[in-house]
Parts: sequence; C-alpha cells; structure tokens
Amino acid sequence: MITVIKGRLINGVEDQAIENGLLAFEENRILFAGEEKDYTIPTEAQILSAGNGTILPGFIDCHAHLTGNQDAGDWANGNLFGDQLLGAAYQLSLLLEAGFTGIRDMSEAGFYLSRAVSRGILKGPRIMPGGKVLGITSGHVDFDPSVTMQHFNENDHLSYLMDGVDECIKGVRNQFRQGAKFIKICATGGVSSPTDRVDDVQFSPEELKAIVDEAKRHHTYVCAHCTGYEGAYQSILAGVECIEHGVMLTQREIDLMAEKDLTLVTTLWISLNVANLPGFPSWMREKTMLCADANRKTIEMARKAGIRIALGTDFSNSSNTPYLKLGREFEAMVEAGMTEMEAIKAGTANAAYLMKMDDLGTLEAGKIADITVTKGNPLEDISCLADAANISLVIADGHIVKNTL
Ligand SMILES: [Zn+2]
Repeated sequence: MITVIKGRLINGVEDQAIENGLLAFEENRILFAGEEKDYTIPTEAQILSAGNGTILPGFIDCHAHLTGNQDAGDWANGNLFGDQLLGAAYQLSLLLEAGFTGIRDMSEAGFYLSRAVSRGILKGPRIMPGGKVLGITSGHVDFDPSVTMQHFNENDHLSYLMDGVDECIKGVRNQFRQGAKFIKICATGGVSSPTDRVDDVQFSPEELKAIVDEAKRHHTYVCAHCTGYEGAYQSILAGVECIEHGVMLTQREIDLMAEKDLTLVTTLWISLNVANLPGFPSWMREKTMLCADANRKTIEMARKAGIRIALGTDFSNSSNTPYLKLGREFEAMVEAGMTEMEAIKAGTANAAYLMKMDDLGTLEAGKIADITVTKGNPLEDISCLADAANISLVIADGHIVKNTL
C-alpha cells in the first residue's frame, strides 16, 4: 500500500524547506518527495497530514552506547549482562519515540540488538554495530583498576583493553568476529575516566596504525574518541576517518581533517552542560570545566573549514541524559553556532554517510523510508526536535512505529 504524508518537507539535501510538500512511500522505499502539486495521489493511498508540522529524514545518532545499564534495575546493580541487554532492548523503543531511526552503536549489546532489529523480531532503529570500545590499560575505558585486565576483558560489555600491536590486532579482529561494521577506539583520555587526564595520548603511533590497517582489511574505518588534541592529531596521521567529540581540537587538526575529508562527530549537549549536571564526583567536575568553551571553538573552526559534522549524543538514558530527549543534541548544535539546517543535516544526511548507506539520510525517490515528522518548524525553532512529545510520526524501514497525527 502507498502511504502519503502531506506537510512542510525538509529533504536533507536542499537548504530550504518545501512548504507545500508531499512524501509518498511504499513498503520500505520512498516513491516521491517534493512539491505536492507535482504528485498525483493514487486513489487507494493512505493519506496522513503533518498539519503545521515538518517531515524530515529519520534522525541518526552516530555516537550511542546501548548498555542498558540505566534500566537494569537496582536489584541487579546493572552488572548482569542479560539484564543490561533487556534494558537496552527496551531503550530501543524510546529512541524511536524520539524520532531516531538509526544509530551507530559502540557496545557489545549492539551486535545482538542489530541482528534482532534487522530480522524484524525487535522494534528499533537500524543499528550499525561497532562492538566494544577499544582502549589501553589505564586509559579512558579502564574504569575498574581493581580487577585484572583479563577479568575486565571477559566481563565488561562496553569496553575492551589492549596494549601493543599484537593485542590491538586481536582486539579489532574480535569485534569483527562478532559482526562489527566499524571500529571505535579511545585515542585520548576523557572526562569520565578516573585514572587519566583528558589530554593524555592513548595508543602509540604503531598501535594506531595496526588498528587502522586491520579495519581497512575489513573494508571499514576507525573512529577515535578524542578529547585532547594531540591524540587526535596522531590518530588522523594514522588514518582514522572520524573524530568523536573533538572537544579541544586546534587549527592543526582541523586543517588536516579538512584536507583528508574526515568527519567530526560532535556530542555537544553533554559538552555544553556537563559542568552543571548533578551527581558527578569532584574529580570529574574538574575535568569538565574547560569543555564547553573549547568545544564551541572546535565547532566554529570546523564550520569555517567546511568539515562534515555528524550528530552524536553519548546519552545513557540517565535522568541527566534521557533518551526521550535525545533530540536536545540538535538544540545544542544551534546553541554552539550551527544553523538549524546544518544541525538537521548533521543528524540525517551527514550521519548516514558514517552509516555507510547511500540510500539513507535524505528524503528522495528510491531511498529507504526512514521518516520523522515533528510538530512545528525546526528552521524557526529547533527546540521542537528536542523532546519526544513533539515527534508525531515515525516510520522506520517503511513501518509506522509511532503515529499521533
Ligand atoms: Zn561515548
């Protein structure tokens, strides 16, 4: 059956909205997206109206961790992987509610969940799994120095520790063994890690090169968590294709990223707000003080250099970072100086580029029917994307998964 949605249309390609727009899709493919006057609606079509709302490509979060910890329950202390997995499965429905029809995940749970979604046994956004976050001993994901490294690697479902070229190759191959479609490493320290500084460089040039080469042999790319700039510089030299966070980048890294056509995945809402969030230990608070100003500068430099910016959130569905408000990231981008349309493209077309799917991220004939409709006009007020309560219709792979129109 053909379904038609009428309303203001932002297709993710052009810089203007089409005010009297229309989108038609059948099964999981878009048949038409353009001016209403240019399409003859078939008599048997189902017709929906966005009213004063706006039809957009489904949103994509390029920096997600489906750990499910927040829903595992106090009784389980969040440590049992079965509980975490079920919590994460539940969270997928929240992501759809918020208008997100795609995520690039960094966790072990993403392997299982991506298969369940693509087989149709679980409702959720399409998931590009990267597997565990790879880091060094004493680095950004070495969260529990009280256990042995072997214990950590066998029992942690978010991260994996590796040191030296051989272990790095093995760690990367282990992710591909499980079904990883890209590789995520931590190339610098971070705000949430207890034993490092944000500007620590993590992985040697030899290790970085080994990781990148192994990913290339599997026809994909490496993205690098970078808070400090020196680790980002060394990662870019080693051939990573995407910098995550990029909080403290300098002009040197920005110029090199532009030259090599790398992508910057921002996680701005957290950067801009982390210093004021409740519930963090004092050592973490100290690390956050410089983040907001530094990250604003990065965004300014990246925009000037014409770097592709993609949306990421790093949200964990905590009370500070609820999945139903995942769209706050669009708001944070505008707050940091991006235009509304730049923010929308960052969370749609540019994000689809990192998903390595040509038929995703824009509303054009022949593309996949991943569609989000919001109340209001995000070009006038981006905050309409920030809360699931404003998201009125969500279509994932041609299925209507939310409809309050
Ligand atoms: Zn992260």
